[in-house]
Amino acid sequence: MTLSSNRVEINLAALQANFQAILQRVGPEAQVLAMVKSDAYGHGLVPVALAIERAGGTYFGVAEVDEGIALRQAGLAGGIVVFLGSDCYDEIIYYNLSPVVFDLDNLAGLSAAAEKKNIRVGVHLKVDVGMGRLGIMPGQMALFLRTIKTLPGVYLAGVLGHFSSADNITETAATKKQLQQFSDLVQKKDICAEGLLDKDDAPLLHIANSAAIINYPDTFFQLVRPGLALYGYHPAGRGQEWPFPLKAVMSFKTRVVQVKEVPAGYGVSYGHTFITKRATTLAVLPVGYADGYMRGLTGRAEVLIRGKRAPICGRICMNACLADVTDIAGVSPGDEVVLLGSQPWEDSSGSEQTISADEIAGWMETISYEVLCLFGSSNDRIYLNE
Ligand SMILES: *Cc1c(COP(=O)(O)O)cnc(C)c1O
Repeated sequence: MTLSSNRVEINLAALQANFQAILQRVGPEAQVLAMVKSDAYGHGLVPVALAIERAGGTYFGVAEVDEGIALRQAGLAGGIVVFLGSDCYDEIIYYNLSPVVFDLDNLAGLSAAAEKKNIRVGVHLKVDVGMGRLGIMPGQMALFLRTIKTLPGVYLAGVLGHFSSADNITETAATKKQLQQFSDLVQKKDICAEGLLDKDDAPLLHIANSAAIINYPDTFFQLVRPGLALYGYHPAGRGQEWPFPLKAVMSFKTRVVQVKEVPAGYGVSYGHTFITKRATTLAVLPVGYADGYMRGLTGRAEVLIRGKRAPICGRICMNACLADVTDIAGVSPGDEVVLLGSQPWEDSSGSEQTISADEIAGWMETISYEVLCLFGSSNDRIYLNE
């Protein structure tokens, strides 16, 4: 429970519908690994993962071992792939996590620790096929596969790559090249001849993120790794074509705390960067940059009150900001304010206004991913609709 007027609402039904839409999209050949890293992009690690598991989810991806431990402690049964924690041997073993590997010393350490417990840990080998970030270089592939084969405490559960530019549908050359390199690598003659990627014991191949799931259906292999699409957004931002329907999962709301009339020529908020041009009705909102509503939104953002857009005016403070509601009749203290999400028209015409994370990202000069992480991690969250 929270007494704050500010709340982030997470629509679990929308999340589960998005997961189902992605399952449909990738078809029966491929499985879905739900990326729930970074507190599920601000939506809440445990409730999101459990909701996806109830909707049929079997694989989950986290950045850190701590996140994997939290999921196990919450009772998650599915496979958990940890992208950045291959040196936490004891935790990986105890909590039955599958690390992404890219380092021979870590592999040896993990294998030794697993042997002591008489188990084998499934590892996912990450190859840099052009992303230019984490992962072994393609030339090291055979060495790593041979090493994994000889280490008694580990086995190869997956081989993965990551795309750098799959959100770009006008410049497809980089993605096609990266896909080609990944396909070539896992079919390479010497690797197959040595039995390093045996058919019977075949590792899961995976490379597709949300952008590739949307734009490149030939990248699905045995597993896909959607993040942003689960939360209802398109990696390339606003106005994109969707090959399947998705819904935004997060809303951010507050309430009006005070409504006041000020005359023309009145300076508003710190520094008086905004001076009223007319007699103005201001709504004071109890939300500011401490709640993730960044100061950089000053002079740009709009919010929804009574189903209409109201501009934020004057500097956004730590815990407060002001909306100009002169053109919206009847605004009163206690009225709901939507900072992110939809609000129906008060006249019940059935239509509704929406402010998306993409629109806010435009005002903040960033991407929807960052808006979701920021709002979600700065506020109390409420889970709806399951
Ligand atoms: C975050 C991440 C994803 C998911 O990316 P989206 O663009 O959110 O779909 C997939 N794979 C890896 C390795 C990631 O780090």
